[in-house]
Amino acid sequence: MKALVYLGPGKRALADRPKPLVELPTDALVKVSKTTICGTDLHILKGDVPTVATGRILGHEGVGTIEQVGPAVSYFKPGDRVLISCITSCGKCANCRKGLYSHCAQGGWILGNTIDGTQAEFVRIPWADTSLYRLPETVDDEQFVMLSDIFPTGYECGVLNGKVSPGGTIAIVGAGPIGLATLLTAQFYAPAEIIMVDVDDHRLETAKQLGATQLVNSRQEDAAERVMELSGGRGVDAAIEAVGVPETFELCESIVAPGGVIANIGVHGRSVELHLEKLWSQNVTLTTRLVDTVSTPLLLKTVLSGRLQPLSLITHRFALAEIGTAYDTFGQAAETRALKVLISSGR
Ligand code: ZN
Ligand code: ZN
Repeated sequence: MKALVYLGPGKRALADRPKPLVELPTDALVKVSKTTICGTDLHILKGDVPTVATGRILGHEGVGTIEQVGPAVSYFKPGDRVLISCITSCGKCANCRKGLYSHCAQGGWILGNTIDGTQAEFVRIPWADTSLYRLPETVDDEQFVMLSDIFPTGYECGVLNGKVSPGGTIAIVGAGPIGLATLLTAQFYAPAEIIMVDVDDHRLETAKQLGATQLVNSRQEDAAERVMELSGGRGVDAAIEAVGVPETFELCESIVAPGGVIANIGVHGRSVELHLEKLWSQNVTLTTRLVDTVSTPLLLKTVLSGRLQPLSLITHRFALAEIGTAYDTFGQAAETRALKVLISSGR
C-alpha cells in the first residue's frame, strides 16, 4: 500500500509499505478513505517530536471503513464506516476510567507517533472498540475528518477548559485550524464577544465569517493594548492560547481579566515566562490539556444536526498520491491560504 513515511528531520516520502495486519485481538484494520495533515505533523517533520522514529507512517486523523477486526472486537464489524480518534484508549486503565484518555496507559496519542498512522491506504487501530466511532452510512465523510482531532481539541482544551459562558468576553489567540475550531465550538455557549488575534489578515477575515466579533492583527498593532481596549479595560474572561510560542502565551497573561482563565491549547517547544508578580492576586486559573476526545460523541451529534459545520475549514483537496503537494500547501499556509487539506484515498 501507499503511505506517507517520516524519514528523519526534513525528510518524508510517499512509499510502498506492506498492508498492516490485525496483530492483537482488540485491533481493527481500517481502510482509510479520508485523512488530513495536522500542525503536529509539521512539528514531527522539523524533528521536534523525538518519539517519532524514522520510518514511521504519519497521520492521526481520518475516516474509513473497517476491513477486518480481531476476535475481541465486539462493537464493530467489517464494512462499518468509522471515525478514527487521534487518541487511542483502552477504556480500562485508571486514567481511561477517569475520562483521561489522552493519558491511557496503553494508548493516548500513539497513531502516527509511536505506531503507524493514518496517512496511508490502511491503518491498524488498537483498542478498536473504544478508539473508533461509528458513522452513519448516508452522510458525506469529509466533514468528519475534522472530528478526529481539531474539533475535540478546540472544544475540550479551549472552550471547556476556558469555561466559556453566555455573555462572556473571550479572546482566541491564533486563527489557524485549531483556533477556528475553538471559535466555532465556543459559540455553543453564546459568549458576547469573541476577539480573534492573529498575524494573518486572511485568517482573521475567515474568523470574522465564522463568528468572531472583533479582530486584532498583532503584527500591525499592540495586541495586548487593543484587547484591553476592546474589553473596556477589564481583560477577557477566557484567554485561549492556540499557537504555542512564548509571545502568544505571554499575551494571554496580559489580557486575562480578574477571575478569568488562561486556557492553553498550543504545543510549546520552549519555556515561557509566568508573570506571577502580576498574576498572583488576580484569581486566575491556568489550564493545560492534551485532548482526551471525550467530547467526540457530542460533537458528532452537532455535526449530524447541522449545528456545527466543519467543512468551512477545508480549503484544499488532494488524492493520496499527491500528499507531497498537500504537505507543501499546508506547510506554506501564509501563501497558499490553507487551513485544513483533505486527502482522499478512494473508497
Ligand atoms: Zn493533530
Ligand atoms: Zn486506558
